[in-house]
Amino acid sequence: RVVVVGSYNQDHVWSVDRFPQPGETRRGQAFATGPGGKGFNQAVAAARQGADTVFIGALGDDDLARVARALASAEGLDARWQTVAGTPTGSCAILVDAQAQNQIVLYLAANECLEAGHVQAQADAFAAAAVLLVQLETGLEPIHAALQAAPAQCLRLLNPAPVHARLDAPLLAAADLITPNETEFAELLARFAGVELAADAIAGCSDAELHALCRRLGRASVIVTLGARGCFVSHAQRERHRDSEDCYRLPAETVQVRDTTGAGDAFNGALAAELALNPQQPLRRILRHAGRAAALSTERPGAATAMPTRQQVLQRFGA
Ligand code: ADP
Repeated sequence: RVVVVGSYNQDHVWSVDRFPQPGETRRGQAFATGPGGKGFNQAVAAARQGADTVFIGALGDDDLARVARALASAEGLDARWQTVAGTPTGSCAILVDAQAQNQIVLYLAANECLEAGHVQAQADAFAAAAVLLVQLETGLEPIHAALQAAPAQCLRLLNPAPVHARLDAPLLAAADLITPNETEFAELLARFAGVELAADAIAGCSDAELHALCRRLGRASVIVTLGARGCFVSHAQRERHRDSEDCYRLPAETVQVRDTTGAGDAFNGALAAELALNPQQPLRRILRHAGRAAALSTERPGAATAMPTRQQVLQRFGA
């Protein structure tokens, strides 16, 4: 089983030819609304890969909350919602331009009210967890609570997105695997290693340089996702993740990119599912599957709705 603790938002997505300048009005070319939020996206991604998935999150007491409950049950998620009175459900405005880049405004609202006590109350969900997956779109207290509630043999995945202002070294140290993208990796290096490195300089670093940088973030294995360039993996505890190398790079699949929103979420959710479903497989193979799921998600618009099923990944890329 995979347990995901995190955010839910209703996404509102507009397609534009290019992003408006400050003060400029541009006409949209298409509009869609659907579920999003890093936590929910990752839970849907894991469930669609076939993992028994529990999602723990918070909603307001409003119409969007009713939509959220229906969507979670349609995905077969075992959702454990905290209802927050007097606060809206999270919402998100997303612009996607002709180059498939995105700009995002996020109002977290109820997500920031998720309480540690609500997480701790789901002891039955944690008892059977093989993998715990958390991000940082809620307060940090429920994340700390989840990392503590997970049983000893459970693998703890932290997707440090976005890098929370109060993120501290003990929280990083509580994770077995952390999965920053380039921007988040640069922020973590500045905060926890005193290293100033531009996000767009990361992919150009040598493997040895990247490995040394990752090791300055503590004991966790680090997977830096590099967008269309795939990902870089750095281990501190090799045997734990069944890889024979300390560090390596994996390329991304070549796909027809339409909307990269949620690529990282697809990657993290599929990674968690694979780790839970195929615990004996080498991490390299698990990551190849996660990268394939993420690549497919970029061919479709939207966030949670863009997550591919296991069958779609296998049909497209083979086993
Ligand atoms: P985020 O969405 O969090 O910024 P990335 O952009 O690094 O994360 O993407 C996460 C993963 O999704 C990558 O490691 C890669 O496997 C896959 N991916 C992202 N963009 C592309 C792309 N253009 N083509 C193929 N795969 C992609």
